[in-house]
Amino acid sequence: MPQGSLDYLKSELAGLEEAGLAIHPRVLEGEQRARARFDGRDVINLASNNYLGLAAHPRLKEAAARAAREYGAGSGAVRTIAGTMTLHAELERRFAEFKGAEAAIMFQSGFTANSGTVAAILSREDVIVSDELNHASIIDGARLSRAEIRVFPHKDARAADRLLEETRADGRRQLLITDGVFSMDGDIAPLPDLVEVAERHGAIMMIDDAHASGVLGKGGKGTVSHFGVEGRGDIQVGTLSKAIGALGGFIAGPAHLIEWLVNRGRPFLFSTSTPPAVAAACLAALDVLEEEPERIDTLWERTRFFKDGLHALGFDTGASETPITPVIAGEERKAQDLSRMLWDEGVFTPPIVFPTVPKGRSRVRAIITAEHTPADLEEALGAFERVGGALGLI
Ligand SMILES: *Cc1c(COP(=O)(O)O)cnc(C)c1O
Repeated sequence: MPQGSLDYLKSELAGLEEAGLAIHPRVLEGEQRARARFDGRDVINLASNNYLGLAAHPRLKEAAARAAREYGAGSGAVRTIAGTMTLHAELERRFAEFKGAEAAIMFQSGFTANSGTVAAILSREDVIVSDELNHASIIDGARLSRAEIRVFPHKDARAADRLLEETRADGRRQLLITDGVFSMDGDIAPLPDLVEVAERHGAIMMIDDAHASGVLGKGGKGTVSHFGVEGRGDIQVGTLSKAIGALGGFIAGPAHLIEWLVNRGRPFLFSTSTPPAVAAACLAALDVLEEEPERIDTLWERTRFFKDGLHALGFDTGASETPITPVIAGEERKAQDLSRMLWDEGVFTPPIVFPTVPKGRSRVRAIITAEHTPADLEEALGAFERVGGALGLI
C-alpha cells in the first residue's frame, strides 16, 4: 500500500477541527421522530426534514414492507436497461398529477434530479442565472453543463433581469434558476417576479421545491401553487426525501423535457433505479398527503407556535417564512455553544456556520414538524430561554 500520498488530508482535517468546522454526524437509533434517540441520548429532534412526520408513518412502512416482499429488495438495473418497474411508472404518473405537470421523471435523489437535469438541458454556449443561495446540487449541475454561470444577489429579481439582458445572444439558451424555499434561511423565492422576468427574456425557468413540496401551496403542491402562478415556470423539482418521508427526486414539466431526460439525464442512465420499497413508500406518502391534508395545517400551526415563542423571548429568526427556523447567534463560536448547550438540555438543533452562511450570521437551525406536540415545543422553548440567557443572546 502506498504510504503518505493522502497525508495532506490529515492536515486539512486538523485545520477543519481547529476552525470548529469538522463534521461528526450524530447517529440516530430507532425512527426519525419528533422525539428521538441520537448518540444514546433522548432529545427533542429539531434537526430533521421530516416535516409531515411521514418518515416513520405506519402506512409508508407497511407499503415498503409489502413491496419488498412482492418485488424484492433491489431493482437490479438502471432505469433505461431493465430497472423500470411498474411502481416507478405509477409514481411518475402520480407526481406529474400532483405538480399539475404534463409529465414527470424520477431520479434517485433530489440532488441527482437537479444536477442531472441542469447538466442535460444546457451546454457550453449557454448561460445559467442563479440565486446566490441556491442549493449545492444546482451549482454542481451548472458546473457539469459547462455553461457560463452568473449569480444574482439573494432574491433580487431585478438583478436577475439585468444578468439575462447582459448575457443575451443569438442562439444562446438562458436558464433562470432558484430554490423555492431556501434551506438555511427558510425564506421563499419571489417567484411571481422571477417567472415574469424569465418570460420577458424567453429564458427557461426552473424551481427547486425540495423544501416546499408537501409544505407550501395547496395540498403541499409547492411554491408555484403558493403564489398561484400555475402553468408558468418550465421545470419544477421535487424531492421525496423531505416532507414525503422516503428518498428520491423528481422533475416535473412538459413531456418533451421528460423524454429528453430519459435520453440524456446521466444519473437516470448510469445509476441503478430506486428500490421498490422506496417507490412504494413514496406512493403511500402521496395517498396520505391527499387523505390527510390537515397534516400540513398542523405543521404550520406548530411552526407559528414555536416562532411566536422564540420572538417573545427576544430571539432573531432572520428572514424565515417557513418551518425552517434559523435562530441567529452571530459569531461562529456562539452558534456552536448554543447548539451544544441546547443538546445538553435535550434539544437537537445543529449549528450552521460560515461558509454555509455569512460570517457573523451563524445560527442553529430548527425545523418544526407536524409531529411536534405543543408540549415538545414548550419544552424546547424553555431550553432556548435558559441557554439564550446564559449566552447573552436574549
Ligand atoms: C435537500 C435539497 C436537495 C436534495 O434533495 P435530496 O432528495 O435530499 O437529494 C435539493 N435541493 C434543495 C434546495 C434541497 O434543500
